[in-house]
Amino acid sequence: MGESVPSVRPFDPDALREKYRAEREKRLRAEGSAQYRQVTHELAHYVDDPYLPRVEREPVRDEVEVAVIGGGFGGLLVAGRLRAAGVQSLRVVEQGGDFGGTWYWNRYPGAACDTEAYIYLPLLEEVGYIPTEKYVKGPEIYEHARRIARHFDLYREALLQTRVTDVSYSDVEQRWTIETDRGDRFQARFVVMTAGSMVKPKLPGVPGIENFKGHSFHTTRWDYDYTGGDSTGGMTGLADKRVGIIGTGATGIQAIPHLGASAGRLFVFQRTPSAVNVRNNRPTDPEWAASLQPGWQRERMENFSTYVAGGDAETDLVNDGWTAIYRLRALSGGVLDELADFQKMEEIRARVESIVEDPVVADALKPWYRALCKRPTFHDEYLDTFNRPNVTLVDSDGRGVERITENAVVVNGVEYEVDCLIFASGFAVAAPFASRLGYDVCGRDGLALSEKFKTGLSTLHGMQTNGFPNFFIVAMNQVGISSNQTHVLDAQSRHIAGVIAETRRRGAATVEATVAAEQEWVETVYQASRANAAFLESCTPGYYNNEGQPNVERFRRNGAYSPGIVAFDHLIEAWRADGKWEGLAFDSVTADAVEAVE
Ligand code: NAP
Repeated sequence: MGESVPSVRPFDPDALREKYRAEREKRLRAEGSAQYRQVTHELAHYVDDPYLPRVEREPVRDEVEVAVIGGGFGGLLVAGRLRAAGVQSLRVVEQGGDFGGTWYWNRYPGAACDTEAYIYLPLLEEVGYIPTEKYVKGPEIYEHARRIARHFDLYREALLQTRVTDVSYSDVEQRWTIETDRGDRFQARFVVMTAGSMVKPKLPGVPGIENFKGHSFHTTRWDYDYTGGDSTGGMTGLADKRVGIIGTGATGIQAIPHLGASAGRLFVFQRTPSAVNVRNNRPTDPEWAASLQPGWQRERMENFSTYVAGGDAETDLVNDGWTAIYRLRALSGGVLDELADFQKMEEIRARVESIVEDPVVADALKPWYRALCKRPTFHDEYLDTFNRPNVTLVDSDGRGVERITENAVVVNGVEYEVDCLIFASGFAVAAPFASRLGYDVCGRDGLALSEKFKTGLSTLHGMQTNGFPNFFIVAMNQVGISSNQTHVLDAQSRHIAGVIAETRRRGAATVEATVAAEQEWVETVYQASRANAAFLESCTPGYYNNEGQPNVERFRRNGAYSPGIVAFDHLIEAWRADGKWEGLAFDSVTADAVEAVE
């Protein structure tokens, strides 16, 4: 569906600066990130799995060579690459009832990936699959995760519906012990902890949330038994219902058009409008697919990530809304040039006006902040949903929902009665590993990872840390990143598989980062950081800037390696290729370990 860019009226930069400041002020809250409610205690049922019944099984007590914790794309990539490198004894432990991670849980109507499928879906060449559209829907992505698991024979030893509760190292045995909520207690030589950032749903900090007596759920646990329909919509169960949804981020934007089409009445409770860019999806051209040459996917991923890191590439292969935003980005400072940014956001606001018929509603849907303060969104039906007679935008003018009662949501003193309340309120993105993942990791001499990282992360290449032999982290900290997250995971999986392969090749018992190497890497990350304090502080609150309270020192240390994933990938690839494995200590089997094994 093509759409021309609405023309932009002349604007006054001073007036816009002042408007952005005033809108930000309205949204600042002293509690910052602490405003959100954790999904525990009386709210714990919000994370029950509605998709698959629990299957009982006997606890596992054995040993594997590699344990991978997490069966999302991070775990699938690492496990797939290890299998391809000949590791036979390999176990993935996954909380969900199947592989897929975020795509197992996020089955809400309209769920789709707004990063181009040809670069987002990993291992396309390896498994021989071409996505059906430029931006594919959730079920196709979930099925691709399962395809990877089948291709690399990962179901064989996997423990699904299983939550890890403890991971600890024995120096004597040179083994890790993994415990789970199913009573499993097994050992592994190597452990890979994948730490997705969108794994822990959170609820808005609204008084009375626990008192709501109607039907309610978080978007990561969509209750199709209640709504009817599926991720393509058709939710007939909502035809006679008053439905409320709290949250208009990337998730809300995708779900709301389907709710608008199905619900008797829909109330969209808005705190901050998203910037909604044009989508322009289209089916895959079979001729193009047939013309692809080996190596095409990595080339395309690198081309995209080069753009989003502010670099220059001759052709823009993906050529979409993401690259259009980043193309405007100034090459220094890591943010858009202010005037280009104003222009871009004026286009977004003009698009709202050109689609939404009621001028008051259109005004309330206009975002007033710089383009990269919040995650950009892309949709061609979202704004039009507000032209439906059954849909009401309840704008809280930045204050958020005031209160929830037994049967209603209160905004600006007005009660909106609802039968069903849906939380599209996001995830505890920045929570420390142990709190986000629900387990801690105990390394040599009983040192806990949470303790070691308390004052700041300390890793070599974001993936290894001293005191934790044969242990690898897959997360978005101290690594080069990209808005295409699977590009980062792909680079990490090649690296981890490479280090494990080298350890096996040497016949070494353990591999561990040295203290000196990790200090050097932390310094490299810190010095390369383009954290722009002024920009982050001027942004409207959100998870990008710790809800308006950015800690720039922490951000520089724990955040990304600023040159981006392409530079990072090339750096670690060269590091592996020179054969020195600088910064790693390989240890041979100790006498104690031999005895323990005997
Ligand atoms: P989110 O971006 O964190 O959005 C949470 C929403 O809840 C925001 O609109 C927030 O308003 C609102 N909210 C929170 N507290 C509230 C309150 N007290 N009253 C009213 N509203 C309140 O979460 P998300 O939409 O689930 O997206 C999370 C991330 O998942 C995305 O940023 C993206 O990385 C990923 N995602 C990706 C895709 C994709 O296509 N690839 C799709 C969906 C999600 P404020 O803005 O005012 O805080």
